[in-house]
Amino acid sequence: MSTQHPPIVHTVAALREAVAGWRARRESVGLVPTMGALHAGHRALMRAARARNSRVVVSIFVNPKQFGPNEDFAAYPRPEGADLAVLAEEAADLAFMPGVEEVYPPGFTTTVAVAGLTEGLCGAHRPGHFDGVATVVAKLLIQTAPDSAYFGEKDYQQLQIVKRLARDLDIPVEIVGVPIVREADGLALSSRNVYLSAAERRIAPALYAALRETAAAVAADPHRAGAILTTAIASLGKAGLRVEYLELRDAASLAPFSGDLSRPARLLAAVHLGRTRLIDNVPVPRA
Ligand code: AMP
Repeated sequence: MSTQHPPIVHTVAALREAVAGWRARRESVGLVPTMGALHAGHRALMRAARARNSRVVVSIFVNPKQFGPNEDFAAYPRPEGADLAVLAEEAADLAFMPGVEEVYPPGFTTTVAVAGLTEGLCGAHRPGHFDGVATVVAKLLIQTAPDSAYFGEKDYQQLQIVKRLARDLDIPVEIVGVPIVREADGLALSSRNVYLSAAERRIAPALYAALRETAAAVAADPHRAGAILTTAIASLGKAGLRVEYLELRDAASLAPFSGDLSRPARLLAAVHLGRTRLIDNVPVPRA
């Protein structure tokens, strides 16, 4: 089956021209920012965008500013042909695939930094990562000027940061969070799952299993949360997952868990499995 992929634009000027044509016809526009290596999680974002907009723009840009010096920027998968086939299947209207020089031309010096929300969790272990994310997302929102933009709950902290930056910078866009898409065994889909060996792939679902179990235990006895997390970190270690963090947070502000389940809480984790870093999160069931 070969459906035609959507037009590709590489420049902000061409992106704006395409969007202006739709705007002239009063069409609505949804934006799905990605780094490519598209999978069913990205497809869910495109479908959420499609459900609410007559036009869907998907950006594919591996953003160097959100990778640390020892991270996988060079190795990050870039399967352009397969990605275009996904865009064709999902009937995206436009692919925005800028080069690094288009996004960060010589002389580029601005950084968008969202204080507070970026400091703990992944922010504590990936210095500068969320500044890179916030900067590129602010640019994409300004360049595309969509009605709404779609982000996965998989990157839960990122979703809260993007909501805050849009609000703080008065960018007129609705930020929509989309639930995590998982493999049948519970592993959250990620472009980085291709790094897992067959043996690691068998261990990886233990993360989601532990998150669910731990969240249920906290819901049953929130005042023992500290001890429950300590036990969970130890058992993840035994399963072969080295825990970077496992933390309970307020679901909206990401403030440390107060012990009060009348407000929505979230359990978030990052673990290392061989050379692969996995992140995942679950809601804590309400009391
Ligand atoms: P990435 O290409 O990894 O930067 O991700 C692009 C967008 O897809 C982000 O908003 C991610 O949160 C979202 N995403 C990635 N994996 C999943 C997943 N398994 N389920 C839902 N959304 C996802």
